[in-house]
Amino acid sequence: MKMKFIKTDSYEKLSRQAANLISAQIILYPDSVIGLATGSTPLGTYRQLVAWYEKGDLDFSSVKTVNLDEYVGLAPDDEHSYRYFMDKNLFSKINIKKENTYLPDGLSDPAEAAREYDKIIEGLGGIDLQLLGIGHNGHIGFNEPDFAFEKTTHAVELDDSTINANARFFADRSLVPRRAVTMGMKSIMQAKKIVLIASGEDKREILHKALYGPVTPAVPASILQLHPCLTVIADA
Ligand code: PGA
Repeated sequence: MKMKFIKTDSYEKLSRQAANLISAQIILYPDSVIGLATGSTPLGTYRQLVAWYEKGDLDFSSVKTVNLDEYVGLAPDDEHSYRYFMDKNLFSKINIKKENTYLPDGLSDPAEAAREYDKIIEGLGGIDLQLLGIGHNGHIGFNEPDFAFEKTTHAVELDDSTINANARFFADRSLVPRRAVTMGMKSIMQAKKIVLIASGEDKREILHKALYGPVTPAVPASILQLHPCLTVIADA
């Protein structure tokens, strides 16, 4: 495995390291396709990218982004949708063109939205650098533990553990959508570079299992062991 493991002593440093790798990609290749993730972990990375943009060090005008996933049934302007999250935390604060930012369509028929999304990724020529978080059950995007690795973008039923983890963003657990459309493992694995970020004691065990345990769809992130250019950044 050609994994690089960067251990930092704080979440701030983890975020700066991840933002550094994304910045380097954008500075070297201004028209890069960057794969992005939602959740709490990338927030620091996005804050850092915004700060460097504001200083004049980064230009997103030719960058394209594809996000991993979107809830089924939430409109783009629903404050719980991942489109809303990305607009609020990153896109509205940098000079990226809105039409260059892609997420699966949460309102179309999920199977149709999935097919459409694979076409979009293919049309962009694939992903140059994919940022990933990891769920407590080893999911990446919403690729939940399963009996097989799903290759392409697809609709999923969320695990109870994922619904529990995400309930913190909703007024009530019953309001968390049960379904999502997520990129498949093939799109993710075909990214030229992958940066996986994990923060906090509660991610230690699953991160270890994913990186050093057997490669199995029961721990979806374990397939990342086979990626030729994986960088993992974790805080101590
Ligand atoms: P988190 O989510 O960053 O909010 O912990 C990670 C994930 O579920 O992929």
